[in-house]
Amino acid sequence: MNVAQRPELIAGQLAPRSDTSVVAATMAQASAPPHVVAAPVGTTPVSPVPGGPVPRGPAPGGVPPRPAPPDHTGPASALAAAVQEATRAHRAADAGAGPAGELADAGIRLLAPDGTLVPDPRFDVLADHDLRQAFYRSMVLARRLDAEATALQRQGELVLWIPLRGQEAAQVGSAQAAGARDFIFPSYREHAVAWHRGVPAGEVLRLLRGISHDGWDPAAHNMANYTIVLASQTLHAVGYGMGVLLDGDVGTGDPERDTAVLVYLGDGAMSQGDANEAFVWAASFGAPVVFLCQNNQWAISTPARRQSPVHLARRADGFGFPGLRVDGNDVLAMHAVTSWALAHARGGGGPVLIEANTYRMAPHTTSDDATRYQPANELAAWAARDPIERLRRMLAADVDAGWFDEIDELAAQTAAELRRDCLALDPPPPASMLDHVYAEETAQERDQRTWFTAYRDSFL
Ligand SMILES: [Mg+2]
Repeated sequence: MNVAQRPELIAGQLAPRSDTSVVAATMAQASAPPHVVAAPVGTTPVSPVPGGPVPRGPAPGGVPPRPAPPDHTGPASALAAAVQEATRAHRAADAGAGPAGELADAGIRLLAPDGTLVPDPRFDVLADHDLRQAFYRSMVLARRLDAEATALQRQGELVLWIPLRGQEAAQVGSAQAAGARDFIFPSYREHAVAWHRGVPAGEVLRLLRGISHDGWDPAAHNMANYTIVLASQTLHAVGYGMGVLLDGDVGTGDPERDTAVLVYLGDGAMSQGDANEAFVWAASFGAPVVFLCQNNQWAISTPARRQSPVHLARRADGFGFPGLRVDGNDVLAMHAVTSWALAHARGGGGPVLIEANTYRMAPHTTSDDATRYQPANELAAWAARDPIERLRRMLAADVDAGWFDEIDELAAQTAAELRRDCLALDPPPPASMLDHVYAEETAQERDQRTWFTAYRDSFL
């Protein structure tokens, strides 16, 4: 329907509701009988043009009285007041929204920023010293590779890069908790998850070098490729989890058989319809899915506090499954809580939501200028909670200083290999973009390929 052909829609729907003159005129028109145009009281409607349309005016008898204002003391008002009060209570319980609140209420924590262990009777602190060192190694490598990839993008070797700086603990701790049978669905920032999972460093760059629609073989690592479309991977994960259920690979008690799904999403994705639909489906069918939300406080330039007046973990209450808020800069807590959640899912307990309270210490992507909106004092406050530094402080009590130097040297070597591998990633033949569109090439596709090849050859 063309709105221009229905001026009453413009008056009735598009005009500001506070414009009482427009509303009154619309009401007057609505009250007039068909083809009888209202005129001011005591006058006869006349067209200024012979035979033309008659101008509209107020309804016969004048403008109807305005309806009585709504009763603000009724049940609806009481409900609104109760909702406001509940929201205030939630805010208070969550130690307030915004960076100050996020810092004050870190969530479940086993390792303090000063490197000391924090007893929590609900979770065992990881006693495996070798694994603690492996965490440190993976986090340092991830940070170094992330910096190298950022430099490669600045030098024109990558189309885009999506930095992970600051989120190393959230990714490495959770990735370690996933077993070989578990399947991981990342968003697009989970480079440390992929590297810790064994994906070769260079393969993570393939998509963002613009030479491939994907990155690695998902079946080789039980880890799907990146999903750029926000939150769509949550639905993929629930679908996979429902398949695991149908296969009977949940709750058997056999560690070689029971399987869970670990899916990553960001704080911005929590506002997407796909994520909330995924929560409903996972809860309804008891799918063995752990939703791991890395709340890095920013959805590009929108602060997380604007998207939710309460901690994101609390959202799980409404869907009927557990929600846990964790210090996302504490690799020990991330590992402990994700291990519990995955075991819960594998055992048939259904989905779990984990909110990793962390911070994005870099722009959203290399196309973003975070200095335009990210307060410097906020960055400094979160830098004091750096995930790598706190683990280093703890390890320093037992590990020689030379070991840290070895890790730094390894990181530098790995970064050099990443650069070499990146530069060796040659673009595929352009016409290959037509491969695999259909199982069998159609005549139309063949014509397109022939035309495209001839077109490109015309430049040579
Ligand atoms: Mg975010």
